[in-house]
Amino acid sequence: MAKKENKYKKYGIATQAIHTGTDYDEETGAVRRPLHMANSYKLPDDLSQVNYSSTDLLMYSRNGNPNQHWLEEKIAALHNADDAIVLASGVAALHALFWTLLKTGDRVVYPAVSYMAVYRLFHELFNHKFGVETVMVDMTDLNAVKRAITSGTKLIHIETPDNPTNGVTDIEEIVKIAHQHGALVSVDNTFASPFNQKPLEYGADFVVEALTKYINGHGDAQGGAIISNDLETMDRIRYEAQVNVGSVISPFNAWQIFRGSVTFPLRMKRINESAQQIAEWLENRDNVTFVSYPGLKSNKGHEIAKKQMNNGYGGVISFGVSSDDKTVECFCAALKVITFAVSLGHDESLIFPQPSYDERIHLYPEQFRNGFIRFSVGLEEPEDLINDFDQALRAVGL
Ligand SMILES: *Cc1c(COP(=O)(O)O)cnc(C)c1O
Repeated sequence: MAKKENKYKKYGIATQAIHTGTDYDEETGAVRRPLHMANSYKLPDDLSQVNYSSTDLLMYSRNGNPNQHWLEEKIAALHNADDAIVLASGVAALHALFWTLLKTGDRVVYPAVSYMAVYRLFHELFNHKFGVETVMVDMTDLNAVKRAITSGTKLIHIETPDNPTNGVTDIEEIVKIAHQHGALVSVDNTFASPFNQKPLEYGADFVVEALTKYINGHGDAQGGAIISNDLETMDRIRYEAQVNVGSVISPFNAWQIFRGSVTFPLRMKRINESAQQIAEWLENRDNVTFVSYPGLKSNKGHEIAKKQMNNGYGGVISFGVSSDDKTVECFCAALKVITFAVSLGHDESLIFPQPSYDERIHLYPEQFRNGFIRFSVGLEEPEDLINDFDQALRAVGL
């Protein structure tokens, strides 16, 4: 697709989040662009030039729709990038990228701690179905990454901070290793969000965001994005994964995420501040065995996070309590403000235990193997969240 000029480039992120991708509606003058729920668009009179597998012409909703395109402009702007592709979910975006870049015989290096679907795609599917050589490494150990990379390595995929342990990976160092060997780097930036971290500025080739989380921010729409300056590969992704696999986003979800993203920088600022305050409180609370939050000075990844996370450290706090799985569940159930549910980055705070019988628990650092809980800070008063933690911990005798 032709690169769209970002008229708001010289402005700050909050201004861009409001203005990029929006305009007056041409037909009515409305100050909001409409939601176009159409499957098809009027064809040109001369069909000889129409390419039915392209995304250049509005023709059929799977080839692209206006709400998707407007959101793509905004997501690209949030990353100071030339292009973004918005798809049906974060996992659809991850799959679209991997599906387009990798073929039989290629090698991909991926993190021992990552989003569940990345583990499934590389540990079970791409290797067995397509003969892609998939190598899992601890991305915080740069020597291990150097040992894992060979001349056949096409891609190093990283996630920082990672889900669910909040481990930090040095983007610049991974890029150096990868590019020396002719490999590409993709970064899952969902935990940090573009408010805090823009991996393209550290040399990454591709960024993936689950828009479902912070960018939509209201827990009511699913979407994902790939962001890059490599326009040629981005067009291949559109062709191979969007048009011919079908992972396009619905116009309605794109419209909803567009609306949610207007307040994204404001929400992120608040979430960064609350998370820092709550992480510091948890660190000093009896019966809390560890707190993994990149904003804590005691955190192993703090120095790297300081270098690459420029506005704050995000809204996820991974922590542990000195207890067994059943008591952890009772603790989560005893919370009165915080919601006991999966996902993260919503307006409401969410909590999700990571039980010791989880199939991937052996891949996490030692301290995460008992009483491990993932908490996503919402927009409530931080004092209310702290008090809620305290009462629920007491309720289960902690
Ligand atoms: C949630 C999440 C995803 C997947 O996004 P979906 O919209 O749920 O498909 C990918 N990566 C990370 C780090 C996530 O937290």
